[in-house]
Amino acid sequence: MNTDPSMSWDNLQRVAVAWHEARFPLARPTHVALKVASEVGELADAVLADQGTNSATGDGDVLGEAADVVIATMVLLGRWRPGDDLMAAVRDKLNLLCDPSSGHRAALRSALGETA
Ligand SMILES: [Mg+2]
Repeated sequence: MNTDPSMSWDNLQRVAVAWHEARFPLARPTHVALKVASEVGELADAVLADQGTNSATGDGDVLGEAADVVIATMVLLGRWRPGDDLMAAVRDKLNLLCDPSSGHRAALRSALGETA
């Protein structure tokens, strides 16, 4: 399998799911959820290594480990919740975070000592 640099999110997710189904046909959602958690740990280790605070945790490949987190998440949702649109959920969450009337924004203003 190979990916085109201009490939859409949906097509990248389809490739990730097809690869995972071929490589791990008997996997269950809990296995992949644990893989997501494991990859988040590897990302944290990479950040620590990149900052030089823990040289025993790898080479500090922050970008590569972040990609692993995304791929594992794409597989988890694409394989067992194919009706869920992960990118739409990401957009919705970002819109909420950036909405000045949302609790998130209000909390930020409060933390900065500003009033609405
Ligand atoms: Mg990894």
